[in-house]
Amino acid sequence: KPDILQPEAAVDEGKQEESIRPHRFADYIGQKDLKDVLEIAIKAAQSRSEVLDHLLLYGPPGLGKTTMAMILASEMGVNYKITSAPALERPRDIVGLLVNLKPGDVLFIDEIHRLSRMTEEILYPAMEDYRLDITVGKGSSARIRSIPLSKFTLVGATTRVGALTSPLRDRFGLVQKLRFYEVEEMTQIIQRTAQLLQTPMTKDGATEIARRSRGTPRIGNRLLRRVRDYAEVKKSGEINETVAAEALQLFQVDPCGLDWTDRKMLSVIIEQFNGGPVGLETIAAATGEDTQTIEEVYEPYLMQIGYLSRTPRGRTATKAAYKHLGFTPPNEQMS
Ligand code: ATP
Repeated sequence: KPDILQPEAAVDEGKQEESIRPHRFADYIGQKDLKDVLEIAIKAAQSRSEVLDHLLLYGPPGLGKTTMAMILASEMGVNYKITSAPALERPRDIVGLLVNLKPGDVLFIDEIHRLSRMTEEILYPAMEDYRLDITVGKGSSARIRSIPLSKFTLVGATTRVGALTSPLRDRFGLVQKLRFYEVEEMTQIIQRTAQLLQTPMTKDGATEIARRSRGTPRIGNRLLRRVRDYAEVKKSGEINETVAAEALQLFQVDPCGLDWTDRKMLSVIIEQFNGGPVGLETIAAATGEDTQTIEEVYEPYLMQIGYLSRTPRGRTATKAAYKHLGFTPPNEQMS
C-alpha cells in the first residue's frame, strides 16, 4: 500500500509542515463556514474583553485542525500549548498544563475523544468555572480544595465526534466540522506551498496534484514535495500538468487519489455484490481495515467524490465508481 496517501503525518513530516503552515486567517484557504463563525466569535469576545468560548473541531485527519488552533491564538494575540490525549494519561499531566496557562491562552488537545476518565473529570470544572478541584488527604479526612485558573480557551480536536462523552461535548460552546477541500481550494493551497518552497509551477500543474490529494492539505503538500523532487531531477524543475501526472504515476498515485483500500472496497462491492448494498462489516473484512477507519477515513472521501453512497441497507458503488475502475455500470450492460 502506498503510504503517500495516508492522511496522518509521517514521523519525519512535522518540520516540513511547520515551515508552510499558515499563521493568519487570510492565509488559511477554504473552510469558509468555519472561518466565518470563528471570526465573529473572536470579534465578539474581544469587544467584550472576554476569552473565546471553548471550541471543538472535528473531521478527518490532515484538514487543518491544529493549524486553525494556532491561527486563533495568533489572531487573539495569546499563547498556545499543543498536546494530545495520549500524553495526558496521569492527572498531573493536565494539571501541570492548566496551572501554567496565562489569561486568554489557547490549550489545544488533539484526539480529545481518547482522554482518560480522571483527566476528563479534571477538565470539567476547569472548562466551566476556570477552577481546579484537587482532593487532598485520604479516606474520611479527604477534602476538595479549589484552585482558581486563568480564563483560557480549550480547543479540542477529534476525528470521532461521536466518541466524546456528552458531559465533555456539552462544555464546548462552539462545535465545528472541517470539510474536505474542493479541487479549486486544494489548487490554491498547493500554489501557496509551491511559492513558499520557491518551486516554479503552472496552474494546471497545481490542479493535477490537487485532484489526487483526497481533499486533504497534508496529502497535497506531500505530493507536491514528491513532484518537486521529480521535476528537479528528471526535468527542468518547473512543475506543469505533464510533469505532475508523470511523477504521480511513478509513485502509483491514482488520478483521483484513490489508494489500495479505496479500490479494494469499491471492487468488492462491484465484483462480489453486484454494486451493493453491502454491510460495513463485510467491507472491513475484505480490506483488512477496521470498521471505524473505513467509516471515518475512507467512506467520507469516496462519498465526497461521488463514488460511494450509504443507504440504510448498506453501501453501494455509483456509476462513476464502475467507470473509474474500468467496469461497465449495470444498467449499461444490456445495451
Ligand atoms: P491532524 O489532526 O492529523 O494533525 P490537522 O487537521 O490538525 O491534522 P494540520 O496539521 O493543521 O492538520 O494541517 C496539516 C498541514 O496542512 C499543515 O502543514 C498545514 O500547513 C496544511 N494546511 C491545513 N489546512 C490548510 C489551509 N486551510 N490552508 C493552507 N494550508 C493548510
